[in-house]
Amino acid sequence: MTLTEKILARAAGKARVQAGENVWVRADILMTHDVCGPGTIGVFKREFGPNARVWDPNRIVIIPDHYIFTADSRSNRNVDILREFVKEQGIRYFYDVIDDPNGHWVFDPTRGPLKRQYGSRYAGVCHTALPQKGHTRPGEILFGTDSHTCMAGAFNEFATGIGNTDAGFVMGTGKLLLKVPETMHFRLEGRLQPGVMAKDVILHIIGEIGFDGATYRAMQFDGEGARGLSMDDRMTIANMAIEAGAKNGIFEFDEKTREYVEYRTRLNGTQTTYEPVERDRDEKFIYELVVDLSKLEPIVACHPDPAQRRLAKELGHIRLDRAYVGSCTGGKTSDFLAFAQVLRGRRVSIDTFGVPATPEIVQELQTTDWDGQSVWGILVEAGVQMTENASCAACLGGPVDTFGRLNTPMKCISATNRNFPGRMGHRESQVFLASPMTVAASAITGRITDPREFLS
Ligand code: SF4
Repeated sequence: MTLTEKILARAAGKARVQAGENVWVRADILMTHDVCGPGTIGVFKREFGPNARVWDPNRIVIIPDHYIFTADSRSNRNVDILREFVKEQGIRYFYDVIDDPNGHWVFDPTRGPLKRQYGSRYAGVCHTALPQKGHTRPGEILFGTDSHTCMAGAFNEFATGIGNTDAGFVMGTGKLLLKVPETMHFRLEGRLQPGVMAKDVILHIIGEIGFDGATYRAMQFDGEGARGLSMDDRMTIANMAIEAGAKNGIFEFDEKTREYVEYRTRLNGTQTTYEPVERDRDEKFIYELVVDLSKLEPIVACHPDPAQRRLAKELGHIRLDRAYVGSCTGGKTSDFLAFAQVLRGRRVSIDTFGVPATPEIVQELQTTDWDGQSVWGILVEAGVQMTENASCAACLGGPVDTFGRLNTPMKCISATNRNFPGRMGHRESQVFLASPMTVAASAITGRITDPREFLS
């Protein structure tokens, strides 16, 4: 069996499963957020009754993160709906925007978009927060009401996005009926060259197979090249499995996974036990591709979908209006460090926005010192508008007052993960997906630029 089949077989209580089979699996964690949480709660109450109890209050993780720093009152109210439900059900893991369990969340636009407006438990973007807060464990099943839930596949678990109806059912029963996906195999070899990042790996792969090339399939990433990648890199790759239509993306378990998971689960007092899955000799794949990481160059996915693969160096004629670094995919500490590596001592020539994925990342950037200056300070000095309000922000557009949103037709280069028309705001805008280094180089020149031009 493949890694995915082994996890599903275990969760279904079976010795073996095969692709195409429908199995009932038990969930280890259900995650929801402010956009889909209220709808999921509505389904749960409608189907199980107004006084029903959730299947396990210790296995539901609620992370408001999407439409948070906006004066839109309906968006603010969604966070209050989550808080009420958490209180009613005794849900243990709720990363509220405010500290007062009886309060109401209201964003104050008069304080501006840059200064922190959240309390001590707020965790930021759900997919980045889940591992940081110790909720991703090898061998487990994670369901989330968000398509990029597949990011947790970096931790050798089966993680997939589900709709509100399925999530309402999981909330009540802890189970879900799943068709076992076929597995596509991506063997990574070699090491990335300077100026090339994990984002380039996944943009290369999606360009190869198409934005529907993995529809309802598992994407398994392994090999010596995968083992050489950091956990942040693996998260970037697994995150974008859905951009090829995949059910999930998954990496092998190794010492790096163990170190990350053990540190995070202990730090946060979450469950520390888990059982990884290892590769079998009899894996059956529907597709195989070997990717030599050392041969890759900086890549850009052009408008209007993530499979429009081109080399950054071929796109110097495309003039840009905006640059954006942030999101679960491109707003991690390592992403901002790579971004700063290119920008250090230089200035951006177009509007450039930086939105760290989580408050912990904000703190890391503000306390990481490069020759007497914080990385945060270096970015601000370079002209980047850096906000402390970690969230999804303009990654998916959001209400019109969302920080960085494309409110007029414009061309934006972005470290985010999706570029279908309208994704970051205005329907006539064009979004070019790239690595944080390529975004930095392009922000300096105002046109799409290969970051190797700025690396000595
Ligand atoms: S940062 Fe973007 S891709 Fe990630 S969860 Fe938020 S909206 Fe989705």
